[in-house]
Amino acid sequence: MTLSSDQELDPTTALSPVPGVDARRPPVRGLLRFCYGPMDCGKSTLALQIDHNHARQGRRGLLLVRHDRSGTPQITSRIGITRRALEVGAGTDLRQVVRQQWVAGRHVDYLVVDEAQFLSPAQVEQLAELADEVRIDVYCFGIATDFQSHLFPGARRLFELADELQPVQVDVLCWCGAPGRFNARVRDGEVLREGDTVVVADTVETPVSSRAQSEVATLRYQVLCRRHFRLGDLGPGAGQRGQLRLT
Ligand SMILES: [Zn+2]
Repeated sequence: MTLSSDQELDPTTALSPVPGVDARRPPVRGLLRFCYGPMDCGKSTLALQIDHNHARQGRRGLLLVRHDRSGTPQITSRIGITRRALEVGAGTDLRQVVRQQWVAGRHVDYLVVDEAQFLSPAQVEQLAELADEVRIDVYCFGIATDFQSHLFPGARRLFELADELQPVQVDVLCWCGAPGRFNARVRDGEVLREGDTVVVADTVETPVSSRAQSEVATLRYQVLCRRHFRLGDLGPGAGQRGQLRLT
């Protein structure tokens, strides 16, 4: 087989400094997606649904969670479905977690990460690296903003780096009927504006050692629209509302 003169002059041959056609084709990479919404919007349920859909296609995944509300490493949805998960610690290198799976002979096609707002920015960067370099699809689920309406550091990095941002479509409404967007921290009928960002899971407060247990128990969270979050207006019957009350 001989080359035609056209092919001999083609600058996109293997020895050419210009990348060939194949090299210029968009490389196959993993996807980094962040699904976010206020508490109680069904994020964990959706996380488990995504896992189920992929597993049914024969793909192998890993469930990760940062601070699960149950206290044991699992993804727990409010509608009662639970799957065991790997707990991610503050210093966990997520690339190492995947490598350990490889060492054990387990392939990893995708990761599902719940409570992703609690990841550190560095951990989010590790997820982006896994997507880019070893083609793992990463599905993160979490809350965008804390009780002061500021982005969680992990959520901020996901907004910056994710390929896809997806608000979770399950409607959570403010008492007025407008879409609920902010998680207000409430004590004795007042919206709290100060304090540590110690929210764990969607609704559970971690008892801080310096804080009396009884004080923690009076805290609850309520989802509000932006206007009522700004005004601190919990609506008629505030205080009696049992929603999200800690027990
Ligand atoms: Zn409202």
